[in-house]
Amino acid sequence: MSDAALAQTDVYDVEGVRADFPILHQEVNGHPLVYLDNGATSQKPRAVIDAIGSYYLHDNSNVHRGVHTLAARATESFEQARTRAQTFLNAESSKEIIFVRGTTEAINLVARGCAAPLLNTGDEVLITEMEHHSNIVPWQMICKEQGAQLRVLPIDERGELMLEKFDELAGARTRILALTHVSNALGTINPVAELIARARDKGIVTVIDGAQAAPHMNIDVQALGCDFYAFSGHKVYGPTGIGVLYGRMPLLREMQPYEGGGEMIRKVSFEETLYAEPPHKFEAGTPNIAGAVGLAAALEYVDTLGLDRIARHEQALLEYATRSVKALDGIRLIGTARAKAGILTFIIDGVHAHDVGTIMDHEGVAIRAGHHCAMPVMKKYGVAATTRASFGLYNTLQEVDALVAGLRKVKEIMGA
Ligand code: PLP
Repeated sequence: MSDAALAQTDVYDVEGVRADFPILHQEVNGHPLVYLDNGATSQKPRAVIDAIGSYYLHDNSNVHRGVHTLAARATESFEQARTRAQTFLNAESSKEIIFVRGTTEAINLVARGCAAPLLNTGDEVLITEMEHHSNIVPWQMICKEQGAQLRVLPIDERGELMLEKFDELAGARTRILALTHVSNALGTINPVAELIARARDKGIVTVIDGAQAAPHMNIDVQALGCDFYAFSGHKVYGPTGIGVLYGRMPLLREMQPYEGGGEMIRKVSFEETLYAEPPHKFEAGTPNIAGAVGLAAALEYVDTLGLDRIARHEQALLEYATRSVKALDGIRLIGTARAKAGILTFIIDGVHAHDVGTIMDHEGVAIRAGHHCAMPVMKKYGVAATTRASFGLYNTLQEVDALVAGLRKVKEIMGA
């Protein structure tokens, strides 16, 4: 679809979108593939696959080093990808965009580079009960090393943060607030702008895990006012092995590098090393150049389609799916927050989530079963695992029907 065609109509042409994703057009176990595991990773449009292919076919070289033509082209493509990510997040400067492997690496970088020097014995890091392990374990590790305490903002039965507990937990010793924008296990969209503002008033550094938000909604880091924001390329229709950490420049200047090596230095001698300015200070070694090129193509694809329109489409899918699944007997929804992104998590009475996932796969429906790297959420609801359908920009109402038909079959086979 061209920009002009999109500008002329607000109709969401899901079939046109699907035509851009070659992988969707296949059968799995004799059924048309219904891919509802977008929360784990999303599929890639041809524009992304072609951009990576074209980079390797025509431009491949190392960046920031050579004077020859291919080196210049590779460097230009890599730095253009940075600018694309800046636009995507509405960061003030492209120098605030650091390329990393993904959200996990981004959070570890902040924990090591920013939090560790900030934390003294008795200081506190505040996270929430709905965090992915990527936004728990790095903080636990740093707290242990620094003698700091990890505090946890709880969630209620619906899967919403208990905001009334925030002031009690964010005290004089709290240095960091790290929370997810959207929960991967519950779908809850958190009021991050409000929490960032409240944390900033207390001088707390804010770190937002945007892994599940970036594919579903417009993000404006300047409007949010956060210090750090992280997302993964592979969840936003880009390749694996590339992601973005946004950091506010004053903090990035202070932050310590995570790894040392080539690319991140200004001057090296055996006596001392002077680091490069951000973002290069945090990008030691040869980066994932093809990944950045693919990510830029993905962000362009999503921006052209329009995240507002994508969000409206996915909300329609979520509402329809919620209604349809709720109508089935013996199914309990886990995560019924008032504001949700396209994630529907549930358990079927008497059936293990893995059995649900296996039977659904026989029907060609790809969903996720397990703890979703959010064991504390499972503990909160008293379950070992749940089943999750997560929607993307190419899913259809007919695919929701296939999900529901599959669940009926599960119930029939398992006698639930
Ligand atoms: N945070 C959330 C909310 C996630 O859903 C995920 C991945 O599922 C991550 C962090 C980790 O992302 P990655 O594995 O791409 O680093």
